[in-house]
Amino acid sequence: MAELIAPGATIGILGGGQLGRMLAIAAAEMGYHSHIYAPEADPPAGEVASAVTTEPYDNRGALDAFARTVDVVTLEFENVPVEAAEYLAGQVPVRPGANVLRICQDRLAEKEFLNGIGVATTRFHPAHSAEELARATAGLGGAVIAKTARLGYDGKGQVALDDPALARDAWATMNTQRAIAEERVAFEMELSVICARSVGGEIACFVPVENRHKHHILDETIVPAPISPAQAQEADAIARRIAEALELVGLVAVEMFLADDGRLLVNELAPRPHNSGHWTLDAAATSQFSQAVRAVCGLPLGDPSPLCHAVMKNLIGDEAETWADHLKTPGACLHLYGKAETRPGRKMGHVTYLQR
Ligand code: AMP
Repeated sequence: MAELIAPGATIGILGGGQLGRMLAIAAAEMGYHSHIYAPEADPPAGEVASAVTTEPYDNRGALDAFARTVDVVTLEFENVPVEAAEYLAGQVPVRPGANVLRICQDRLAEKEFLNGIGVATTRFHPAHSAEELARATAGLGGAVIAKTARLGYDGKGQVALDDPALARDAWATMNTQRAIAEERVAFEMELSVICARSVGGEIACFVPVENRHKHHILDETIVPAPISPAQAQEADAIARRIAEALELVGLVAVEMFLADDGRLLVNELAPRPHNSGHWTLDAAATSQFSQAVRAVCGLPLGDPSPLCHAVMKNLIGDEAETWADHLKTPGACLHLYGKAETRPGRKMGHVTYLQR
């Protein structure tokens, strides 16, 4: 077995949100320790981890001290500065590595990478000014979504525009130097596939799921996605191709559109556990978090098969106040992230309804 990191070792996790929390729980279940490194005080992952460092990602002394306590580093947040990942990689394996972050942190680099390996995306143009955005909008047929190239998520840093004349306002709203204009896709549904690749190159994908959004934030995941077996196979093949081409070690979530004309177009990659994989905690033979631990520690990957149909519902903001109702519902599996403060749009927990 390649480079086995055995139970008893410590997994360093960059980022301290709910994904890090569920990763740390999975690590503990398999006999590993975990050490969270995050700039924010009191991260949700901190209370279930063996150790927490609260320091910015550019504090080299703190990164050195962190590296000395861990056997491998993974991440729950893809916008960790590449420099921090590269610096740590001089001392300890970082999985996924800086090469993957560099691609996934930048929407232009990501789409160019995807097209370069023969994976279809929406048509797009880079834009570095309001004038370029206006030209790109005209060139793409007039209906586009403009997105900042970096640091956008859950619809943040995005503007829909239907007319090149609106480019100046859109550019000002995005407040960026570098953006991408994407053709607006008419889609039947949004899908994702979460794919794991281990140190030795073994690959396992969870089934494609359908993702329904509200106000640009994931609201529900339907398991499995209601698509044909041929479409499911195609989605799986796309995710595998991406994991291989990235030489990924860890997880990658591949978000796709099933366009009205039947094409599968990749929208975005996230090289980490993903909200659309939370159902795996209760309704798959292996959870995405256990799978991530296995992948980065060089263990054999687990069986990703679904155990039943399921629907995962995010509890966003005040929705978390319904927690007691879910506890009373047969087949509902409740997860709360222990966040002290409820804010609109904040992911507070989720519930997976098993459909047996
Ligand atoms: P993103 O931040 O790229 O995941 O976009 C957030 C959401 O906006 C997606 O889940 C879609 O619902 C929508 N969206 C993003 N890009 C496009 C596009 N090119 N065409 C149509 N809808 C889009």
